[in-house]
Amino acid sequence: ARTVHQIQSGQVIVDLCSVVKELVENSLDAGATNIEVRFKNQGLDSIEVQDNGSGISKENYETLALKHYTSKLATYADLTSLQTFGFRGEALSSLCALSKFTVITCLASDAPKGSKLEFETSGKLSSTSVVAAQKGTTVCIEGLFKNLPVRRRELERNIKREWNKVISVLNQYACIQTGLKFSVSQQPTKGKRMVLFSTKGNQTTRENIVNVFGAKTLTVLIPLDLELELELTTAPGQRRKLQDDREIKQIRIRGHVSRPAHGEGRQTPDRQMFFVNGRPCGLPQFAKVFNEVYKSYNASQSPFIFADIQLDTDLYDVNVSPDKRTILLHDQTRMLDNLREALVALFESQDY
Ligand code: ADP
Ligand code: MG
Repeated sequence: ARTVHQIQSGQVIVDLCSVVKELVENSLDAGATNIEVRFKNQGLDSIEVQDNGSGISKENYETLALKHYTSKLATYADLTSLQTFGFRGEALSSLCALSKFTVITCLASDAPKGSKLEFETSGKLSSTSVVAAQKGTTVCIEGLFKNLPVRRRELERNIKREWNKVISVLNQYACIQTGLKFSVSQQPTKGKRMVLFSTKGNQTTRENIVNVFGAKTLTVLIPLDLELELELTTAPGQRRKLQDDREIKQIRIRGHVSRPAHGEGRQTPDRQMFFVNGRPCGLPQFAKVFNEVYKSYNASQSPFIFADIQLDTDLYDVNVSPDKRTILLHDQTRMLDNLREALVALFESQDY
């Protein structure tokens, strides 16, 4: 069943990176265990995301790329207990408006007969044809921003920076998702396709990191498993402070971090990955604390960081920015103070 809902927000597709992120998240939401991301000319020509997820059922073809159609949200109240990445039903309609947009999809029960769907800029389904396919969905985006010349030119001008951003976000998904085979490849306009990195359906994030960044990375890593306590004096989302209305919240930070020892492999800052309950995001304030504490031991390097902040969903809000990469945390300053203390304790406990 589909739900039309009325969450107002800005554009979800602001750049190349948001395209990739929305498509990968749709594949994850569809329960994929295998995802292939294929770029042509760093995405300037095309971006293709193929998954082995649920596929799309026929009754949803017509509405697939219409604004605000989502299959993931039953009621508005569900927003607070959201398990899926997507919920706004905006990505595909935006992509349709901004590029040539094609979908090939197949339910398990229909394999090896799938459907190829083509859409008009408005999101209206323009054609359906039968093609050979396996269970899952492939979404293809060609000529991103082709109908917005200013944005297209800007994308081309900044492609190097955009591409780096795309790769680091894909690194994040590849490293956090266990049990997923994830591969990313790129084909230059003239030349052959190259696999940039791939994970093998590993059981641990450690193995994912080895697949993505190489085994050498491990030689500098120690496990990160910090338990922070946050004493709330005000319930999240509540203004008034009530006396005796205290609550202790447990926050756990799990992952991997460089051991601060001199002379070991230099890490680059783009290998700093943050997640909130497994959702990749940018957390510059957290990065700052990690970097500061690390640098007090090892001034000349920055650490490799893979940190998943696990906490109650009422302690944060992902609905702040359309791309959901900015996350608003309750009582962030106190959380960061606690983190600083815990990190110092972790590094102190290492023998050098
Ligand atoms: P949202 O993810 O917020 O629901 P999207 O515009 O990203 O909105 O996608 C619209 C709908 O299309 C989804 O709700 C889902 O039903 C379907 N969909 C998109 N991508 C896939 C996919 N890879 N596999 C299965 N269904 C998909
Ligand atoms: Mg989506």
